[in-house]
Amino acid sequence: MVIVAHTKWESYLAEAIKRCQRCPLHESRTNPVPGEGNPHASLMFVGEGPGADEDRMGRPFVGRAGKRLDLWITEYLGMKRSDVYIANTVKCRPPGNRVPTDTEMAMCFPYLLAQISFIKPKVIIALGKTAAQDLLGFPKATSLKMLRADNPYRRNGYYVVVTYHPAAILRNASYESAVREDLIIAKKLLEVG
Ligand code: URA
Repeated sequence: MVIVAHTKWESYLAEAIKRCQRCPLHESRTNPVPGEGNPHASLMFVGEGPGADEDRMGRPFVGRAGKRLDLWITEYLGMKRSDVYIANTVKCRPPGNRVPTDTEMAMCFPYLLAQISFIKPKVIIALGKTAAQDLLGFPKATSLKMLRADNPYRRNGYYVVVTYHPAAILRNASYESAVREDLIIAKKLLEVG
């Protein structure tokens, strides 16, 4: 399925990402995955990068990890997927689902920054270590446990809340209660405005 762009900036960004050759990921992708959701969302999720299902569909979080993310949005936040905006640190699938390199993330960062500046979310939930490092600028060695310990992070005009990536929960269900705690922090930040 091809992503439907709703606003001028989304069409512009989707087109720029389609033409982008800033890093080698464009060579092996099937479809770029710019992101989707409510362009005026107060809550934004940022994941690592498209997987095989996302690459095929051109949409973020549509595979097994996406089903788990959908559940978190409804159960822990009381929201719908269409209320939020979902994006990734890189917009093209890293081959074999490897972690994107620092250079790939740096080359793609302006697109994420543009999305954040157009959407102006109150809260961004970083799904996993890669997204947290991209958004917060911590060294790669910083563990997710350490990153979570300082939740929430105040940034210029928005908060960042770090939590586990849904794929990590599919591998180890014992982290689920930590995700619930993190999402409750995000919900409270959204409620106080
Ligand atoms: N994992 C991610 O980090 N992003 C997606 O879009 C899908 C799976």
